Order: sequence, then structure tokens, then C-alpha cells
Amino acid sequence: MSKIRFNALNEALHRKSINIKETEKRSTIFGKNVFNRNAMQQYLTSAAYESVMDAILHGKKIDRKIADQVAVSMKDWAMSKGATHYTHWFQPLTGATAEKHDAFFESINGGIAVEKFDGEQLVQQEPDASSFPNGGIRNTFEARGYTAWDPTSPAFVYETTLCIPTIFVSYTGEALDNKTPLLRALQAVDTHATAVCKYFDKNASKVSATLGWEQEYFLIDEALAISRPDILMTGRTLLGHSPAKGQQLDDHYFGTIPKRAMSFMQDLEQECMLLGIPVKTRHNEVAPNQFELAPIFEEANLAVDHNSLLMDVMEKVSKRHKFKVLFHEKPFEGINGSGKHNNWSLETASGTNLLSPGKTPMKNLQFLTFFVNTIKAVFENEELLRAAIASASNDHRLGANEAPPAIMSVFIGSQLSAVLDELENVTKGKLSPQEKTDLKLNIIGKIPEILLDNTDRNRTSPFAFTGNKFEFRAVGSWSNCATPMTVLNTIVAKQLKEFKIEVDKLIDIKNLKKDEAIFNVLREYIKASKKIRFEGDGYGIAWEKEAKKRGLSNNKTTPAALKIKVAKSVVSLFEEMEVMSEVEINARYEIELEAYTKKIQIESRVLADIARNHVVPTAIIYQNTLLENTKNLKEIFGEEYKNIAKEQIELIMTISKHITEINALVSQMTEARKIANTKVIEKSAADYDSKVKPFLKQIRYHCDKLETMVDDNLWPLTKYRELLFTR
Ligand code: ADP
Ligand code: MG
Repeated sequence: MSKIRFNALNEALHRKSINIKETEKRSTIFGKNVFNRNAMQQYLTSAAYESVMDAILHGKKIDRKIADQVAVSMKDWAMSKGATHYTHWFQPLTGATAEKHDAFFESINGGIAVEKFDGEQLVQQEPDASSFPNGGIRNTFEARGYTAWDPTSPAFVYETTLCIPTIFVSYTGEALDNKTPLLRALQAVDTHATAVCKYFDKNASKVSATLGWEQEYFLIDEALAISRPDILMTGRTLLGHSPAKGQQLDDHYFGTIPKRAMSFMQDLEQECMLLGIPVKTRHNEVAPNQFELAPIFEEANLAVDHNSLLMDVMEKVSKRHKFKVLFHEKPFEGINGSGKHNNWSLETASGTNLLSPGKTPMKNLQFLTFFVNTIKAVFENEELLRAAIASASNDHRLGANEAPPAIMSVFIGSQLSAVLDELENVTKGKLSPQEKTDLKLNIIGKIPEILLDNTDRNRTSPFAFTGNKFEFRAVGSWSNCATPMTVLNTIVAKQLKEFKIEVDKLIDIKNLKKDEAIFNVLREYIKASKKIRFEGDGYGIAWEKEAKKRGLSNNKTTPAALKIKVAKSVVSLFEEMEVMSEVEINARYEIELEAYTKKIQIESRVLADIARNHVVPTAIIYQNTLLENTKNLKEIFGEEYKNIAKEQIELIMTISKHITEINALVSQMTEARKIANTKVIEKSAADYDSKVKPFLKQIRYHCDKLETMVDDNLWPLTKYRELLFTR
């Protein structure tokens, strides 16, 4: 065994879990480090408090004087929590979070020092952000980037820093981050959903999107992870033979959480509580060492921030527990990968869930309106929704034979399918009194009853209705939820806008009653969007064929999937909804293609290094042992050695064959990379996909074969069985 592998295993095997004492009730520490309403009420003057609440609830601007007051109070509050520094906390287009800490401390004349933080520093900053991806935005406009306070997501203290959630935009106003388009999309869905809500409630004033994400991840012992250059540099294993035992016994799913993992979770959950992230659920997932964590759902912007923050906190807490947390969608070949289900719904200011059936027929008509419009929106934009979750790492799930497929479809269960089937038959135009009664009593009146015992669930569907929300299951575990949430809310906003226009037309021109008009439009939508509904097995080859017939897209890789993002129809959709301009869209397209290309490029380089510097030399050492052995046998047994050393001789030849293949493939891969690098980004990404990526599998095949042949004592890389079962 190599020294590194031996030491790593030794370290991992002797690891002790940290005892986490939960001294305080979770409800008492919840949000303790957040500048939330409670803290604001305590620290702000009532005028300042009103002004901030107005900004949160109604998007009103906060004036400079008030901002100064808020800043001073925020600083006092933060210092009482032990903060010494502050930072604008934002989400550049790398998908991660960014921060630059400045001390409150400032020295003024005569060597006297004070702690200072005013409205200017709260509201706006100009980080030196020239190294963040901008997709040409800043080059084109010669503009710098600045961050601006987002009062809808509360500031918080993490460790000794006051973190202020901000947007990140260029001087000419283009969004350089993920949050800005999300906020605009949430504004769009608010506007158009509120307008539709007014059909049912004249006083409707606001609709918020809600998001409850479920984060899957792997925990690997830190020493073992460090012993693998592929995990360290790419977040996944690029080689490794499957262990004899994987997940075939299903003994990990919902099993007892291992002690070390448990103490990590307790520690993490305490941190989350302090930061106001309402985590609630934890359990083992399907694969060994795979876990899931889910919070109570929140308003979408806050939920997105909380997911990004959680991922940061997980990295920090895992270090304390000597774990490495893996967010990659497919860290290990042959066992399940990870996703991040995005549970999504719409909620009114009074707390009504618009995707939850109600007690009266009118409430149910409202439910059906939002339900059917969402399905229609997904149908019209299925390819864009697929693009919203495209990444090099998520391709391992979506394009491969694993949950869910790259084809977007909607699952609603047999009972709601039956309801929609009935609604398809509603008479065109005016309804007879008999039909109206029938609809109210027998069709929409029955919805809450049937949903109560609606137990059918389809785990293979990428977009499933689960009783009172839609669950977008194809989102990658590593991705920032902002992008899929921006797309989903934008397409629903656009759909609701169209719905309102069509209903109003029927009321004004055809003289239909409001509910008649709604039934009429819904009927057409149900018919039009039928092709997106699918209740069967989403993994099968049969569905691929069927989906093709239905005209649904099936873009298996990121470069193919991203193309739709710059289509004319998509640009006008985003422009019409005021979510993104063409410049912003093109910038993101370029950045995503570049990220894809770089990811594959790094994987290719790392694998080439491992194959040539670790695998091949080890195979040669073992081959030499076999040669030595054969030579010795010949010396003793003469020509008889050919029979005695038959196995060894065959093995010597097989090893040679694999070594030759590896060397040839690595050279070819390097050549393919060189050619791909000379091309413009769109072509380069396509090349990395079709001409470089296939080598990863081929090279791995030969390396994994060698792993099964070479003496375990010599093998330098920590094996799957050690990575996955040492705890
Ligand atoms: P599972 O999908 O694992 O069976 P649940 O159905 O209990 O789990 O819920 C999953 C997630 O859905 C949770 O994170 C929860 O907060 C979220 N959720 C529940 N209601 C809503 C809603 N109205 N809007 C958004 N998310 C919701
Ligand atoms: Mg779920």
C-alpha cells in the first residue's frame, strides 16, 4: 500500500467523533445571529423600522438619512454579537458566494480610533471584482461593478463578520450575479399572479414564490479525500473500481445515521439555527455515505440565499469534523448521485398557498387556475427549464441512466389527471346552469377530498405535483437554485399574463361570466399542454421514444441544452418580463459554456496525470514482480515454467495491453484538447463534450481494470470500498 493511502486509512480509521452538546432549545437560538424583525425592532427607531419593512414588503426605496440610521444600529447589533468586520455578501456568476471583509475599525485624526459604519457603506460598495466572470459585460461597457444592499434578505453575523446580502451589478445596471435576475423574476411573478388573484379576491395585493429545497450530499473522511487528487481537484472520482458491496442491499437508505455523521449534522444544524436557516429534516440517502438535509420552505429569495449560505457553512463545519463534503452530482460511478429538489409554490400576502386546493369551489377554481397555468408554462418552456439546470456535473444525472432524465415532463397523479380530463369536456362558451352546478359539485368541489388520499408518487418525474406544491427534481446538488428559480418564476409570470389577457377578452368581447371565461381558457390550456404530462416510468427507453414522438426536447449534454437560452423567443420572453436584457443573457450563455469547458478540461488533465503518474508506474512495478517471479520459475523448472507460470505470463501481457492503451488514449486526449482550445467558445464547448469527454470513460476503463489486477499493497489510490465504507 502506498504511504499516502496507508496513512490516510490509518487516520480515518482512528477518527473519533466530536461530542456536540445541545444546551439550548433550538427555538431559543433560532435566528439569534440574524438582523431580523425582532432585532430591528429592538435596535431601530420606529421610523427606520417602518422604512425597512416598507422596502421588504413593498419594494420602497430607503432614503439616505434612514440608511445611515439603519447602518449605525446594524453595526451596534453586530458588535454585540462579537462582529469586528462587515462584508457585502453576494453571488457572482461563479455560482458560489463572494465576500470581502472590511473592519468597522477606522482611525481618525490625531490617532484616535473609532468603529464606523454608515449608510454609504451599508447601501453600496465597489469591490475590486475584475476577476469575477462577466461574459464580456464589463469589457463592452467599460464599467466597474458595485454591490447594493438587498433589504429583503436580512443581514447576519457569521463568525466575526456582519454579512449584508447584496446584488452585484455593473455601473450601467447589468446584473453580474444570480440574485438580480431572480429578484426581477420574483417581481414579475408577483405582478402577474396578483393580477390573476384579483379574479378571486379583490383585495389581493401581493404574491410571493416559495421555495423549499432538499440538499443531498456525500461525506467522506478528510484524510481519504485528500489522498485522492481527483476528489480534491474535481469534486468527484475520475477512476476507481466498484466495490463488491455498493448500495445493492439498500441498507443505507433511512438507516441509522453513523455517529460521526450525526455529530456533524448536529453541529451544522446549530449553526443553521443561529443563522436563521430553518433546517428540519435529516436522513441517510440511498448511497453509502450519502445524506440529505431539508429546511422548512421560505420566500424564494431568502431560500436561495439560505441554500448558498448553507453550502458555505457545510464546508466550514465539515472541516471541524474532519470530513470533506461532496456536492458533486455524481462523485462515485455505479452508485446514486445527488440532487437538490426544488419544492416550489406561490403564496398570497395572507398566507394562502395558491397550489393548495381549498374548501370551496371558488378556492378550487383558483387552485386549478394556478395549477393548469404552471403546467402550461412548463409545456411551453420545457427546453428552457432543462437549460436552467445544465452543468457539466449535472449531465452525469440528467444525460445518464439516472434520476431524472433530460426530458422535462410533469407528473400530477391519477386523480388530478382525471379532473383535467373532465375539464377538457367543458362546453365552449356559455355554460348551462346544470353544467355549472355539476362542475362545482362534482368536479372541482371534490378536489380536496381526493388529494387527501392522493398517495401516488412518481420518483422518476423531473417535475411532479406533490399535493400542494410542484417539486422540480432535476436541479443539481451543486447548483445555485437562483437560476432554475429565475426561469420557473419568469415562465409562470409570462403564462399568467397571457391567461389574464385571454380571460379578460372572453369577458369583454364574448360577454362570458368570470368563471365561465376561466373554465374556457383552462380547457384550452389543458388540451394544449397534454404532451408535457407523463405518469409513467421516466427512466425507461420507451419514454425516450415516446417523448421524441411528442416533440419534447432531450438534450443530454450541457452545450446542447444551453443553446435555447439565446434563442430569439427566449430573449424576448426575458425582456418582456424585465428579467434580463439580451446583453445579460448572452453574458450568462458565454459564462456557462466557459464553465463547462473548464470543468471538462480540468478533469481531463487530472485524469491524465493520475493515469500516467500513478496508475501506469504502479502497474509496471507489479509487472516487474511478475517478470521476476517468472524468471525465477524458469531458473528452477526449466522449460516446464511455461505451464507453471501460465497465469503470470498472461497477466504480464494483459497489463502491457492496458498500459499501452492508457498511454495512447492519454496522448490522443491531449491532442483533442489542444484542438478544442483553439476554437471559439461555442465550438470549443461542443468539442470538449464530443471529442474530449469520451476519453475520460475509456481511460478510466483501463485504469479500473488494472486496479483489479495489481497487488493491493502497491495500489496508490484509496479505493472505493475505503472511501465509502470507512467512517
Ligand atoms: P419529500 O419530498 O422528501 O417527501 P416533503 O414533501 O415533506 O418531503 O417536503 C419537501 C419540502 O417541501 C420541504 O423542504 C418543505 O419545506 C417543502 N414545502 C412544503 N410546502 C411547500 C410550499 N408551499 N412551497 C414550497 N416548498 C414547500
Ligand atoms: Mg422531495
